[in-house]
Amino acid sequence: MAKRRPMVVGNWKMNTDRASALRLALDVAAGVDSLRAEIDTGVCPPFVYLDAVGRALAAANSALALGAQDMYFEPNGAFTGEISAEMLRDLSCTYVLTGHSERRHVLGESDEMVARKTEAVLDAGLHCILCVGETLEQRKANQTNEVNERRARAALKGVKPSSLSRLTIAYEPVWAIGTGVSATPADAQDAHERIRDLLVRVVGQDAAQSMRILYGGSVKPSNAAELFAQPDVDGGLIGGASLNAEDFLSIIRTAAAS
Ligand code: PEP
Repeated sequence: MAKRRPMVVGNWKMNTDRASALRLALDVAAGVDSLRAEIDTGVCPPFVYLDAVGRALAAANSALALGAQDMYFEPNGAFTGEISAEMLRDLSCTYVLTGHSERRHVLGESDEMVARKTEAVLDAGLHCILCVGETLEQRKANQTNEVNERRARAALKGVKPSSLSRLTIAYEPVWAIGTGVSATPADAQDAHERIRDLLVRVVGQDAAQSMRILYGGSVKPSNAAELFAQPDVDGGLIGGASLNAEDFLSIIRTAAAS
């Protein structure tokens, strides 16, 4: 089985303005271009800056891909405030996140909605990063694997076998996101291994072994190496640290070398 290619994607959430988004994207792009043979990288700016950032990355002929933090599953129509996968394709987006914990827990997205979004992202030919992960309460109740399995199974139901090569899972324990407290490498590996076991059961050995599972939750330059050294951790989805070009590049270099 070929080694999985590492991936690091930055989720900027509701941060930056137009000028700082462009500066950050170009600073990161300048650092990743020498690593294009080793790792897949991307950034997910707020919707309103996708076009400007995408144009700047294209003009720089950068390997840094453009991603969106969310989208709606319908292709067009009377859905005020929403953005479709086709619109994201039109802006040359590569990645789309689905099921981020802030969408689930702050904005109330259900497993069913995340599944419809995941299917729509993949049907549009885009690459989906599906986020799963347990809350602190669920962790304390020993429900980590059960929650991850429920969330992943719900989303995988609508995924066609031919789309699996464009699906990545991000394990993001909710209690680790933006808190400064990361999962230990052993706990991250344990959750990733269980997710991969589930993938083997649902999509088969070959697809499961080639799908990437990213870890997200307070990854920093100081803890990236030990997290990415785990055999089932194939890179990271990075929030806070992706807003600083030097920190984000340090995490990318660590993943590329792991
Ligand atoms: C995230 O929002 O996906 C995330 C992992 O955030 P942070 O790195 O800030 O914990």
